[in-house]
Amino acid sequence: MNFDFERFKSNLYKTAVAAKETSQSMIAITKCKLKIMEMKTDMDDKYIQIGKIIYNKDNTDESEAKINTLCLEIDQLKEDIKKIQGIIDDNLNRKECPECKAKSDKNFDFCPRCGCKFES
Ligand SMILES: [Zn+2]
Repeated sequence: MNFDFERFKSNLYKTAVAAKETSQSMIAITKCKLKIMEMKTDMDDKYIQIGKIIYNKDNTDESEAKINTLCLEIDQLKEDIKKIQGIIDDNLNRKECPECKAKSDKNFDFCPRCGCKFES
């Protein structure tokens, strides 16, 4: 059930990222974006399941446990999406500002949006 991030990443690297060719890199980015879309759909589905349990005022221990499990799964998905977003940034030579979360060129020393200095 859990997404095997390491395997996904190593497969990507094998097929594309290591090659560092633009077209290959674009393929890697597309694969990442598709995976993110898939994970977001999965996440929405879990939000809906939580909503239904709450709407039905189903206050049993069982449904409370179910909600907790769903929340943990959503947290995991959020983390995995962040990791995959990192691969996309890597391929586009971008990095994320730790302060304002804006994306900018990897070689920049300062964030073009908020001006914070990047650690090198
Ligand atoms: Zn910034």
